[in-house]
Amino acid sequence: MIELRVMPVGEYQTNCYLIVETELDEGILIDPGDEAQKILDWIGKTSVTRLLLTHGHSDHVGALHVVKQSLGATVGIHPADAEAFSIQADFELSPGNIFRLGDAHIEVVHVPGHTPGSVALKLIEVDGFHRALSGDAIFPGGPGHTQTPEALAAALESLAHTIFTWPDSIRLHPGHGESTTVGRECAAFETFRDKPLPPDLCGDVTWG
Ligand SMILES: [Zn+2]
Ligand SMILES: [Zn+2]
Repeated sequence: MIELRVMPVGEYQTNCYLIVETELDEGILIDPGDEAQKILDWIGKTSVTRLLLTHGHSDHVGALHVVKQSLGATVGIHPADAEAFSIQADFELSPGNIFRLGDAHIEVVHVPGHTPGSVALKLIEVDGFHRALSGDAIFPGGPGHTQTPEALAAALESLAHTIFTWPDSIRLHPGHGESTTVGRECAAFETFRDKPLPPDLCGDVTWG
């Protein structure tokens, strides 16, 4: 059985996720943002050999070095963020890449905007696709922080072509705070997209 565990870490309460195949006691760790020892204690005896990063911001990779060394794990990130944030990766997270975990698998989806190499991770279980980790690409109520109007435009474009093509029932587990669903965000997003946007809009944008 697949379990999705979450533990907020550090100043920004970044959600560190552990996807565990409970029969094998094997897991994949996502976004070790801070508090390395707390993360290692939390992982316990579960075998973790792969670390995936939703993007390269420091609040998502702060404990990366220590956790990677302690576990002897390999690290994957999208090449655009490996370059933008000078993160040494062992493998790339490119669109369509698949990581197996027991009978389940994780599929990489590129969602640029918040950062050029932001990815979402679809969790596909034996009974289908019900949930995904969305990093800082989208939160309940709006897209993740963007630094320029171009980045916001890229975020809206990539969300429209990826996450908002998924079924309404899909649960999205973001990089901070509580989860939401595609249906809830998509309805608000469509209203937002129908309104003219100020040309300089960026930053912490909400759909409402
Ligand atoms: Zn971020
Ligand atoms: Zn973040």
